Amino acid sequence: GPRVGVLALQGDFREHAHVLATLGAEVSLVRRPEELDAVDGLVIPGGESSVMDKLARTFGLQAPLKAAIAAGLPVYGTCAGLIMLADTVLDAIAGQESLGGLDVVVRRNAFGSQNQSFETDLDIPALGEVPVHAVFIRGPVVESVGAAATPLATLADGRVVAVEQGNLLGTSFHPEITGEHRFHEYFLAKVRERASVSS
Ligand code: GLN
Repeated sequence: GPRVGVLALQGDFREHAHVLATLGAEVSLVRRPEELDAVDGLVIPGGESSVMDKLARTFGLQAPLKAAIAAGLPVYGTCAGLIMLADTVLDAIAGQESLGGLDVVVRRNAFGSQNQSFETDLDIPALGEVPVHAVFIRGPVVESVGAAATPLATLADGRVVAVEQGNLLGTSFHPEITGEHRFHEYFLAKVRERASVSS
């Protein structure tokens, strides 16, 4: 299967690794630049984006991650991972940086205290007719989608919660914890495509 890394600095990387292995990927955990070089795609998990950012810089991974994204590595970010991929982050903590790549503005912790965590079903035509059951856990919303990016899913009120841009994919919610595999499948198709082009 395709070689897929999961950024394992912090957060729910084990859940992603499990889903990807179930889908036949050759999964590895990425904590060092050499480990990033060995994969054809990368998942950035949910967790806490400000901590993930700090650890990425401490481990010397920020620059390699940015370079890999710029070079077209397929990357899928969930929740904190989406925040890491966003070009602009609102309500970031002081000094927090993102990797960027996705031409979007996201707002951290965008759902009010009553609604910080909730579940809903989303219609996502790109993934088929069956709605996606989406679990939000202190997730971000995509406040604006730039010209280079495409919204994939919106809440009933119109707020964007999934986006795509070339080889980059991001969701505000957590398919890795609900048995929903279609986002990972969709991502793996990008990884396979990329692996076949570059080998
Ligand atoms: N609130 C977290 C952040 O800002 C994201 C939460 C999550 O990944 N479940 O990074």
